[in-house]
Amino acid sequence: MPLDPDSVAVHAGRSDLRALGVHALPIDLSTTYPFERLDDAVASLDALMGGAGPAEAGGAVYSRLWSPTVARFEAGYAEVEGAEAAVAFASGMAAITATLLAAREEGKNHVVGVRPTYGTTDRLLSSGLLGLDVTWTDAGGVAGAVRDDTALVCVETPVNPTLDLVDVAAVVEAAGAAPVCVDSTFGTPVLQHPLAQGAALVWHSATKFIGGHGDVLAGVVGCSEAWAARLRTVRILTGAVLHPDGAYLLHRGLPTLPLRVERAQATATALAARLARHAAVGRVYHPSLVDSGLVGAGRQMSGPGPMLSFEVLGPDGEADGPGAFAAAAAFLGRLRLATPAVSLGSTDTLAQHPAGLTQRAAGGAGGVASGLVRVSVGLEAEADLWDDVRQALGGAAE
Ligand SMILES: *Cc1c(COP(=O)(O)O)cnc(C)c1O
Repeated sequence: MPLDPDSVAVHAGRSDLRALGVHALPIDLSTTYPFERLDDAVASLDALMGGAGPAEAGGAVYSRLWSPTVARFEAGYAEVEGAEAAVAFASGMAAITATLLAAREEGKNHVVGVRPTYGTTDRLLSSGLLGLDVTWTDAGGVAGAVRDDTALVCVETPVNPTLDLVDVAAVVEAAGAAPVCVDSTFGTPVLQHPLAQGAALVWHSATKFIGGHGDVLAGVVGCSEAWAARLRTVRILTGAVLHPDGAYLLHRGLPTLPLRVERAQATATALAARLARHAAVGRVYHPSLVDSGLVGAGRQMSGPGPMLSFEVLGPDGEADGPGAFAAAAAFLGRLRLATPAVSLGSTDTLAQHPAGLTQRAAGGAGGVASGLVRVSVGLEAEADLWDDVRQALGGAAE
């Protein structure tokens, strides 16, 4: 019988520890690795430059080529994600950039970007920096946007900050022969597995829920061994490697990932229901409040997730405009328990203002209402969080 995902997370990437005679994850900080015979080092270098994994390469040579501590985290994450292989990077954006570079082939320079997507991803694709030919569309427009020279289709679900869900299997079908890459940062490897829906690659900003404690900047891609080889070569050439200390911390957090995500998800669901009844609140965005057909046991997402957004209404009951902006700013300023900050997936609850902060990174407000507040629900007790949110809303009656 296959292990339950909770048990996989506890033991992932640790199967050799007993044989090594240790219990905690080892950290190797070496930047260079001594060789016995030059011939062996030459063979290892050639293999690593060609994208070989640690097992085939024989030796590490130099830590931009391969770090055993990073490789151990990659193996652990791959088990949790249900991926054949994984490649970790210095940040989520480094992972996305490497994927875009790795996807390019002779005569294939076209990328389909599905909007909306994370502001910096949008800006990267729109900037022309990588020399890609980009077509923007929405989830329904993928079939019409894909061409013979399409190297990659990029999609994100749940979407920031509205938590809309995109049907990954439908996008994969519409993409035909073009590989699909899913930014699954909000979905976490606990709640969804885009590879099982037919995606070729799954991206995470591991800075968020995978790290889980707000102290590591990292990205990771789950994929086939063939894609991993291309990604490793790009990583060696561009150098956006994850430090072994970061890899250790990410791996240390994997066993509690399911517990953290499920607890935060339960609290988010309760808060979303309470917020939806509050007089000072406009629309509340959480997958538990929408019948998408994509949430539930055996569906794309096993649960609605720990992220939610809601509109703080201005003095005249408006969700957009300067009054709503001021109301959202006042709400964030009054929070005592939750932390006003961007990012997500930490142990504490984080609240931020998409129109003012994260959507601006895309180069505009992205059509987001100025009263919208996004909350990454943390591990505090739900009653304490609700007390904090209620007082920050100005004590208006529920
Ligand atoms: C944070 C984030 C990223 C970028 O990751 P970094 O680790 O900040 O580089 C990409 N996609 C989504 C959905 C994110 O939330």
